[in-house]
Amino acid sequence: MLIGIPRESAAGETRVAATPETIKKYVAAKHSVVVETGAGAAASYTDEAYQAAGATLGSNQDALGASLVLKVRSPSAAELGHMQPNTVLVGMLDPFNQEGLQAIAQAGLTSFALEAAPRITRAQSLDVLSSQANLAGYKAVMLAANQYGRIFPMMMTAAGTLKAARVVVLGAGVAGLQAIATAKRLGAVVEASDVRPAAQEQVASLGAKFIEVPFETDEEREIAQGVGGYARPMPAAWMARQAALVSERCKQADIVITTALIPGRPAPTLVSEETVQAMKPGSVIVDLAVERGGNCPLSEKDQVVVKHGVALIGYSNLPALVATDASALYARNVLDFLKLITDAEGGLAIQREDEIVAACLMTLDGNVLRSA
Ligand code: NAD
Repeated sequence: MLIGIPRESAAGETRVAATPETIKKYVAAKHSVVVETGAGAAASYTDEAYQAAGATLGSNQDALGASLVLKVRSPSAAELGHMQPNTVLVGMLDPFNQEGLQAIAQAGLTSFALEAAPRITRAQSLDVLSSQANLAGYKAVMLAANQYGRIFPMMMTAAGTLKAARVVVLGAGVAGLQAIATAKRLGAVVEASDVRPAAQEQVASLGAKFIEVPFETDEEREIAQGVGGYARPMPAAWMARQAALVSERCKQADIVITTALIPGRPAPTLVSEETVQAMKPGSVIVDLAVERGGNCPLSEKDQVVVKHGVALIGYSNLPALVATDASALYARNVLDFLKLITDAEGGLAIQREDEIVAACLMTLDGNVLRSA
């Protein structure tokens, strides 16, 4: 089958859906691959490296005209216009965006959104949310360290002692846990909060302190377990108790990294304007939830703003800031997924009964298969 790798067209998107490493594997598996000239340039993968791996170079239309198109982000209307009906599309297609999926269905594509893969052990190697969130958590700490006018570790010098930075991480999923680990490695004192009780042990195992919000009813305890590893919206009373505790911890903090998300919902507000007002001047907040409305109402998408003396970093695509590694991991995720929809002869063999394939299949025969 002919696999196409177009250059990503979304603003600020530096990642690419295949690397020379994965292309070698596609070629070994009897596929042909056409890579748009310059598709990997922003992620430091050269055209020559793609050619050496066995791909041919082509135009944007050549790549989009392939029977199987691999992308990072959902195709634009212009890109859809270059794709043939029955093309198979694999990418991060934003499964909660019904409008986007409708457009893909109307173009007649068979599409798979990798974000929709279930959080089961067998799906770990193709879990794009984890591979990308992990890097986002790391990069969030790097950005905070760069913005912060002080240092992270305690340092005893002849000119006096510098105190270790205090970091608060809100949301201890994949990104949050990596942020905790990275901040610890830099020598910060770290505290973290999450609604899911399972996160407590993981936070402690990284040497951070868990900010525990007590449960007052069985209902609160039950909702907090989440579903399929994901959080659910908590009752207002619990959120109010969490807000009070978080506010206290943020006032003591130098860096706050927020990563709290609930699938298909706006991000919960965890750091209010009053809390920001009470934070120390020079503190930094990195809001990883900014794309979904933010965990702090003051953060602004793709901006660094200073409000009440606190710098708020609101970059919505942190993996794109580490594009080489983010592409390498994403491309391997895609490679593993393709094993479920292709056969040994390089043909298409969509195993619809497979629970991962079924969960990721978004559009088929002109219809959207998933309701938001
Ligand atoms: P996510 O990006 O959807 O959310 C980030 C974190 O925010 C989650 O930990 C969530 O509990 C937390 N959160 C939501 N509301 C909050 C609130 N009010 N206060 C504080 N925290 C709040 O989640 P994710 O990073 O994708 O990970 C979700 C879970 O899936 C984790 O338990 C992770 O370990 C698990 N997981 C399992 C597998 C597997 O294969 N078994 C793979 C990847 C992830």
